[in-house]
Amino acid sequence: MRKQDIYRLLEEKALGYADYAGVPVRPSDEPLVAIPSSKNLTASQVGTDMLAYTPDGVYVRSGVLSRLQQAAGILAAENKELQLEVGYGYRALEVQTRLFEEYKTKLADRYSGDELLAAVHRSIAVPGVAGHPAGAAVDIQILREAKPLDFGTAIWEFTPDSFTFSPFISRAAWDNRQLLRRVMMQAGFAPFDGEWWHFCYGDKEWAKYYDKPAALYDQVSFLILI
Ligand SMILES: [Zn+2]
Repeated sequence: MRKQDIYRLLEEKALGYADYAGVPVRPSDEPLVAIPSSKNLTASQVGTDMLAYTPDGVYVRSGVLSRLQQAAGILAAENKELQLEVGYGYRALEVQTRLFEEYKTKLADRYSGDELLAAVHRSIAVPGVAGHPAGAAVDIQILREAKPLDFGTAIWEFTPDSFTFSPFISRAAWDNRQLLRRVMMQAGFAPFDGEWWHFCYGDKEWAKYYDKPAALYDQVSFLILI
């Protein structure tokens, strides 16, 4: 099989828009909280699009924070030199909408209708179902002595090798992805196999992944919950 066919299959097998767009939400009013740094958990914003909203840190729902702390504990029990670093958490709905619309315009000459939504969603999630604007998704990696482990690509490097199960990365990078995936799943997060760094708890994607009857968190405005 050709390399690009393998990439195409990996993309198709990751959960997509149509898989969980219809999942209902039983929303909670849990607050958004900034992730505090500790020995095994830290947060540092990747990119600049949320600086206007949350210049002082990375925010998630409080229930997501407690699960991140649990994951950091599991990681520390295996190797106390390792630290989880959250690079992205809550994204303002306006930011998600802007990024989504920009990308949709780019792809509009290649797709239309539901196919267009699905294609855009693979890179920039449809705002109404996205995990980041619900405070329910994180982009995360593991550090050793303040440097990221080798994951085969950098966090947010949108190449086909960022599919979690790309067979074209080194053995060490593969093992590091599996370590991250294991500690996050043990703490209750659902992985997204289209990006090795993206995990969610409580959003529609999570509900679909674990066959839950409903999502726990709906899209939220930063100004209401802070
Ligand atoms: Zn993400």
